[in-house]
Amino acid sequence: MYLKSLTLKGFKSFASSTTMQLEPGITCIVGPNGSGKSNVVDALAWVMGEQGAKSLRGGKMEDVIFAGTSGRPPLGRAEVQLTIDNSDGALPIDYAEVTISRTMFRNGGSEYAINSQACRLLDVQELLSDSGIGREMHVIVGQGQLDSILHATPEDRRGFIEEAAGVLKHRKRKEKALRKLDATDGNLTRLADLLTEIR
Ligand code: ATP
Repeated sequence: MYLKSLTLKGFKSFASSTTMQLEPGITCIVGPNGSGKSNVVDALAWVMGEQGAKSLRGGKMEDVIFAGTSGRPPLGRAEVQLTIDNSDGALPIDYAEVTISRTMFRNGGSEYAINSQACRLLDVQELLSDSGIGREMHVIVGQGQLDSILHATPEDRRGFIEEAAGVLKHRKRKEKALRKLDATDGNLTRLADLLTEIR
């Protein structure tokens, strides 16, 4: 599995549609300060489902949409498409190539698709969670983040490893199931109370 191409359109400084073809191995992005190198990394995190505006270096989620320049008006939507080579079947889907896309509109709406089929954020998260490139982005180490990883508490460090190993998905499912059990317990208690009252 490797990242094959990335297309940005209306995302941050990339107003026009821009596609980067990537190869297996190491890719370097070079350019002057402020030319948009980190915006490319933000786009990767965003298309994979990142929900935190701060992680995307913005104040609010709409900040990812091209805000305009002196020569170009702002755009109404941001779109990113990420194509992943899945010929080794690392992603649990029957396609040798998987394209994930995310679109956001200025009115706040967001759309996701996997191979052009509209889907939910959860579907994207589940697809990626076993691959080690999940939403929490521990595989994307931003500037200044190295320090926080080196100084992380043992619990946080375990979180990084669990995310990379794909355990987090099961932990979240377990938490959801436990919450449902709790709610059912509450319902049973209420039912028992009602039965006592009726008798
Ligand atoms: P450095 O080397 O200094 O870290 P960089 O190449 O990583 O810089 P980025 O941080 O990716 O640069 O890009 C910053 C540029 O992106 C700034 O010029 C900023 O104005 C522009 N930018 C960010 N968000 C938007 C947006 N929503 N609309 C238009 N331009 C944006």
